Amino acid sequence: MDHDHDNDSELPAHVHAHFPIPQERAEEAVRELLRWAGDDPEREGLIDTPARVARAFREYYRGYLEDPGTHLSRTFGEVGGYDEIVLLRDIPFQSHCEHHMAPIIGKAHIAYLPKDRVVGISKLARVLHGYARRLQVQERLTAEVADCIQLHLEPRGVAVVIEATHACMSARGVLTSGVTMTTSRMMGVFREDERSRKEVLALMGLG
Ligand SMILES: [Zn+2]
Repeated sequence: MDHDHDNDSELPAHVHAHFPIPQERAEEAVRELLRWAGDDPEREGLIDTPARVARAFREYYRGYLEDPGTHLSRTFGEVGGYDEIVLLRDIPFQSHCEHHMAPIIGKAHIAYLPKDRVVGISKLARVLHGYARRLQVQERLTAEVADCIQLHLEPRGVAVVIEATHACMSARGVLTSGVTMTTSRMMGVFREDERSRKEVLALMGLG
């Protein structure tokens, strides 16, 4: 039975994950795309492809099944008076653009200046992946990661810089390979104070 997609569009994106679709239907959709591309989904080389693609989608879009903020729910208050920038640099990630469903491949630098709470550093990467494993535009991905950290840790500042290449640019259309797009979101002291911003960008290797 089909769901009413006009109503779906009123809801936040992650709510779609609550309408379970059997994997066979996803596989049939892939077979249809293979036919549409001009190939025969029944030939030997393609026979298992729809199932593989469906499983790959589960992985690419796993972020719809989670609230990335939960990774920041466990914080530590005993930081020994540490009041300098915490930075996770060169975090590799993969996402998919919402316009073409093509890969966005890049790295992120995530920093915050703690007020009185810190998190285990791997959690910052988990927040990134939680949002990256959805259909995205790079600008929104950058903003969502920063906003999530701001909301849950309430630090004195957050800085997120993402550098990525978009397969929809390099593999189709204008065929521009090797072009990197950079987006950033600065909050708190990194937005208001020029010196802090320069410091965090230098730590990221972007100064
Ligand atoms: Zn695209």
